[in-house]
Amino acid sequence: MALLPVLKSLGAAQVCMRLLPLCMRVQEKWNSAAEGVVILDNGTLLATEAAWQRYPQMLCNLANEGKLVYPSLQWALADSAFVRQCLADGDASRRELARRAALALDAETLAKQSLLDIVSDAYSQGASDIHFRMTGSEARIAYRIHGQLRHQTARSRTSVTEAIAAALNTQSDDFHDVFDESQVTGASITLTLPDSGLPIRIRSQKSPCRDGFSVTLRLQADSTARALTLSELGFASERAKRLQHIMGQATGLLLISGPTGHGKTTTLAALNREVPATRKVVSLEDPIEIIQPRIEQKYVSTDNNPEAFAHMIRSVLREDPDVIEVSEIRDLATAKAAVTAATTGHLVVSTVHATDAVGILSRLYDLGVSSLQLSQPHLFAGLLAQRLLPKLCSSCKERVQDNRWGTVYRQSKSGCEQCNFTGSNGRIAISELIVPNEEATTFIREQKLSQWCASLAQQGWDSMACEAFMWVQRGVLDPSYAAELIPGYAQHAGAELQQEPAHV
Ligand SMILES: [Zn+2]
Repeated sequence: MALLPVLKSLGAAQVCMRLLPLCMRVQEKWNSAAEGVVILDNGTLLATEAAWQRYPQMLCNLANEGKLVYPSLQWALADSAFVRQCLADGDASRRELARRAALALDAETLAKQSLLDIVSDAYSQGASDIHFRMTGSEARIAYRIHGQLRHQTARSRTSVTEAIAAALNTQSDDFHDVFDESQVTGASITLTLPDSGLPIRIRSQKSPCRDGFSVTLRLQADSTARALTLSELGFASERAKRLQHIMGQATGLLLISGPTGHGKTTTLAALNREVPATRKVVSLEDPIEIIQPRIEQKYVSTDNNPEAFAHMIRSVLREDPDVIEVSEIRDLATAKAAVTAATTGHLVVSTVHATDAVGILSRLYDLGVSSLQLSQPHLFAGLLAQRLLPKLCSSCKERVQDNRWGTVYRQSKSGCEQCNFTGSNGRIAISELIVPNEEATTFIREQKLSQWCASLAQQGWDSMACEAFMWVQRGVLDPSYAAELIPGYAQHAGAELQQEPAHV
């Protein structure tokens, strides 16, 4: 024993927390003041001389346990008061650590709960998005309901920020950063609503602004739970039938256009429901917004590789798909890969940023796809454009004689109980669909888009303006919203109204 070093102070070492419970159990068994043992986190087994003399076998057993953590375990002697002090200090810090862990767990649970409260509230009111603006010490909150912003009571910036950070850190499958207010980041979160058990997919986007930062959450209920079909989205039955037919086709490119927030992704998911079960659908998405168990969804990250979509399309072609979906065509490489896939025995469905159905072609020319490539016969299965417009509340809409629009229904400014005092109730999809024929192929090759539009109008084609005008005449839409959101509406309505003057 005399050969062993004698320790009088811990120096930089601490009690090993992992082996502490084992040492405490041995100590309890000995139940004596003279014999004591503790293992330090520098790999030293510290025992009293009395312990060595009385329980050498137990100390050796303990040392063997210690060697599992510290393979080059050393032995040292210390007096019993020192060992007892080490054990007591170690036990106190173990309790403190446990208490802090419990507190942190509580804070995280509370934070997650408060975000869930906001999301449940917004969802029950039919909101599509939640907007947070963090400024000063305040979090200003607004819900977008049927296309319009509704401001909510402000909350504390700290608690809302904690709630969002907690959700991103623990419930996101594609958020891998540390929450930083000064960074622009997007991520998806899945939450389960407590009342209905309905899973909600949330797409979050965060960016700094002049006096703080903003976070936008887009709410997307699980499509399997909500089961939206084309007709539920407001597509007329004739149009839904033509789209169903296209989704059964073997080849071609179906492109959907519309502004952000006008339901392109929801339409894409509804179209998937029309694909026969005998066909394999592979969907390439950034981000995955709606979970669809029936199809193969692949998350494509374009963070480090701008050509990731084009690359994935080429690689998916080797996986024997029938239908390939691409969440959006944003660059030339993706556009070219989509065209190639569509002309080699696959149906390709995607969205592009364009104002109307014919405008899809302008967008593709702008990206750099040649008119020669785009005018290949039977390339396009369809060109679809859509907008979502607020529907007038049928209980409080007001019939008025308007100088510009004739006799129409307008949104009531005060609203009523039926519409939560907003004047509108739900939204309706206004769409237009072109299935390009041989004549269209010529216009596309020669890049004569305005002539194409004129020719379509002459043939009595049902444009978004026609459809919107019909809904205004039926008292479902407010004409000022139609004029604001539908391209060419004012012109179309003006011409129609001149033909048949409105009767009061
Ligand atoms: Zn109303």
